[in-house]
Amino acid sequence: MSKPVSLRFLGAANTVTGSRYLIDTGHTRILVDCGLFQGYKYLRERNWKPLPIDPAKIDAVVLTHAHLDHSGYLPVLVQQGFEGKVYATPATHDLCEILLRDAGKLQEEEADFRNRHQKTRHAPAKPLYTVRDAEIALKRFRTIHFGKPATIGDCEITTHPNGHILGSGSVLVKARGREILFSGDLGRPHDLIMYPPEPPVGCDYLVVESTYGDRLHDHHDLESNMADIISDTARQGGTTLIPSFAVGRAQAMIYLLYKLKQKKRIPNLPVYLDSPMAISATELLVQHHALHRLSKEECHEACSQVHYTRTREESIALSQQQMPCIIISASGMATGGRVLHHLKRLVVDDRNSVVFAGYQAPGTRGARLVNGEQTIRIHGDDFPVHAKIHSLDFLSAHADYEEILKWLEGIPVAPKQTFVTHGDEEAADSFRCKLKQRFGWRACVPDHGETVTLD
Ligand SMILES: [Zn+2]
Repeated sequence: MSKPVSLRFLGAANTVTGSRYLIDTGHTRILVDCGLFQGYKYLRERNWKPLPIDPAKIDAVVLTHAHLDHSGYLPVLVQQGFEGKVYATPATHDLCEILLRDAGKLQEEEADFRNRHQKTRHAPAKPLYTVRDAEIALKRFRTIHFGKPATIGDCEITTHPNGHILGSGSVLVKARGREILFSGDLGRPHDLIMYPPEPPVGCDYLVVESTYGDRLHDHHDLESNMADIISDTARQGGTTLIPSFAVGRAQAMIYLLYKLKQKKRIPNLPVYLDSPMAISATELLVQHHALHRLSKEECHEACSQVHYTRTREESIALSQQQMPCIIISASGMATGGRVLHHLKRLVVDDRNSVVFAGYQAPGTRGARLVNGEQTIRIHGDDFPVHAKIHSLDFLSAHADYEEILKWLEGIPVAPKQTFVTHGDEEAADSFRCKLKQRFGWRACVPDHGETVTLD
């Protein structure tokens, strides 16, 4: 009898954020992803609660990709005693260098703002972690390459490209004879920039994401839709604001706008990328061009048509710009960052348009705007919403449920058990039902903190 192996869901169970899955063989403990919780306050508060396991007892972390809801808890883990290695592909490592430092900086700034404006119940307010904490965590990174297994104790891990963002992959963990496949955030078969996900490898247990587990992307002509919005807005003398995730979507938007201009489907308006982090991520797109569809030349050309605003002063000057233009700025769900300054100015004028280009988690400002709220609170003030608000789901970097099912059709044998994660309650449960109907698979939606034994 081989010893039991367990899998524990420490996040992304019945919610889209905080991805953390612990595999324990009794000898080796591996955490697959180490993400921050985002969105509703009760979720964000989980970032401050200690893990139910001593971080010093975790041997290694493996990252599916760099987005903060998969990597952003690493500095806390290290601060609390984790001494192992963090395995990631080279592009994931490069992106984490940008994202984790920025997350530390934002948290320092936020704590500072609260202390200065006495907007805190905790005196003094402390950041969850600092830039320095992020830098210490980054020293633990070790590179793994797609398709090349790495051994960790009595386990073996392998990643395979899954088309979501630069460096992203599904992760197969072999643990004492059991094979567990984590889909990671699954990309799309026809993404603007990324190659389609590689077919899934065989496994005994599958952990699959379900962000769009109950929804299909609108497959209308993407280019026409975007071209119409931008042209109509410009005709009225308005500006189009695209709140965008700094890593992934911002680069896809740059490329889309470049194509639209080339085909003369939109007027030759200035395009601004106002996010230092997105600018750095765009540079990585050029560097890692083998990982995506664009050639080095296309990357250079698409990127050279954009004005980059790096400093605060440039950003402020841009926010006073009266001429019609296109502004891409982070964060993608308008929860923070420079996009808020643009939103405050642009949302009150009906000549302008705001285009959300990805998933909007419930409870975020982006979700409220997309749901048609008439006023929006930013930095403590309320602003009436007069601008046109668009949600172009089909620009998402996440597969919809048909695309996930199609991907899963490629799996060599049915898994013994499937765990549906990384989706809100309704999306996850709806996807569980679809797996049963379509494939007859045993599937469940695990609870937060639940442990299962893998026979
Ligand atoms: Zn992601």
